[in-house]
Amino acid sequence: MPKTPARPAGRRGKRGAQQAPRKSRKAPKSGRRHTAVRQFDGQFLAFDERRIPLVYRQDHRARTIILRFDREHGHLVVVLPRRTTPEAGRRFALRNRDWIVENAARLPRPVPFAAGRVIPFLGQPHRIRHWPTARGVVWMADGEIHVAGHGDHLARRVQDWLKLEARREIARRAHEKAAMIGKTIRRISLKDPKTRWGSCSPAGCLSFTWRLIFAPPHVIDYVVAHEVAHMKELNHGPRFWQLVSELTRHEKSARHWLQTEGLHLHRYGRA
Ligand SMILES: [Zn+2]
Repeated sequence: MPKTPARPAGRRGKRGAQQAPRKSRKAPKSGRRHTAVRQFDGQFLAFDERRIPLVYRQDHRARTIILRFDREHGHLVVVLPRRTTPEAGRRFALRNRDWIVENAARLPRPVPFAAGRVIPFLGQPHRIRHWPTARGVVWMADGEIHVAGHGDHLARRVQDWLKLEARREIARRAHEKAAMIGKTIRRISLKDPKTRWGSCSPAGCLSFTWRLIFAPPHVIDYVVAHEVAHMKELNHGPRFWQLVSELTRHEKSARHWLQTEGLHLHRYGRA
């Protein structure tokens, strides 16, 4: 049993777990953490039937490699001290397989896109129904998601369709909110990051996780408002939060939802 997971460097296991949605946090106390800590997506670790998403955290204050589960996001965090490579971190994780499997068992189970499975759509549960001989691709009726065609393509079709729906929901809100503050969005991209719900570049390019389509509309509204507000305020200061409250009425309830339920956004469409 590795002892290391029990003692994360410095502040006990708090940072990562509270980190996300990173963009939704109040302002960091100083710019230091941005230079001292760098976080990036790793690959998956495959153990038995489970694929565990991995996130590397380069932390110059850490003295040893540390493994820790971020329960909010359902991934394993590998904290890397200065001059330690992700490969070394990965090898360390693989050596501690038993500890990881034991702790992963307590994380919520993944829900694949498959016939009969239930996934949320805009916060409401929807069953996936498969029609092998039907025409068309994916459509929604009677609170169910119907998928035509060969079963081999079902998961991909569901995912492609969810991404389109996510883009529609997000883009509509984003353009509307940007117009409210006299800004123009240059591009909206949809990604699947493990550590954040959205981000904003100074050039006006917004990016969001397509997984927001699983969340209730008020949560999408808040995440979009948050990133649009960054087009004017590239920080998390009082003026930023004032702007957010002008762009959405749901800041408080949405942030609470993301903290308690956000983890589940990562479960769907994974085997
Ligand atoms: Zn932010």
